[in-house]
Amino acid sequence: MLKYYNLDIVFQEIPNEVSLAINITNCPNHCKGCHSPHLQEDIGEELTKSVLSDLLEKYGNAVTCVCFMGGDNAPEEILQSAKFFRKYGIKTAWYSGKKALPNSDFTQYFNYIKLGAYIESLGGLDSPTTNQRLYRIENGEMFVVGFK
Ligand code: SF4
Repeated sequence: MLKYYNLDIVFQEIPNEVSLAINITNCPNHCKGCHSPHLQEDIGEELTKSVLSDLLEKYGNAVTCVCFMGGDNAPEEILQSAKFFRKYGIKTAWYSGKKALPNSDFTQYFNYIKLGAYIESLGGLDSPTTNQRLYRIENGEMFVVGFK
């Protein structure tokens, strides 16, 4: 089951997109130095189909992309949620803390995917030494984005 803690409208997480960031809880990754430890807790509201429909109605005209921040505890549900927004012509992005995608379906339903755990000594996506990578996906192929 996916739960989310809160929402943000963000401009930098995905280049050239105005994104609705959905901050997913129950993160299983337990990175040392985690920047958002509350997202490791089992808190927040369930991200049901009805909530997705409400978000579409409320933000569908205000954003160009929906970005799922987390969700490694239930990747299939992240995939289904992405499919929902893609039906309405909204781009989709996923920030995962895993090294690799669960399967190739994810390259069909996401426009952007960030992979890689947060490693304190290497820094986040904005660090030149980071292990994390943001990919743009076109026709099932992943291309590294270097935007920071
Ligand atoms: S993936 Fe993100 S939220 Fe989860 S433990 Fe690592 S830094 Fe924290």
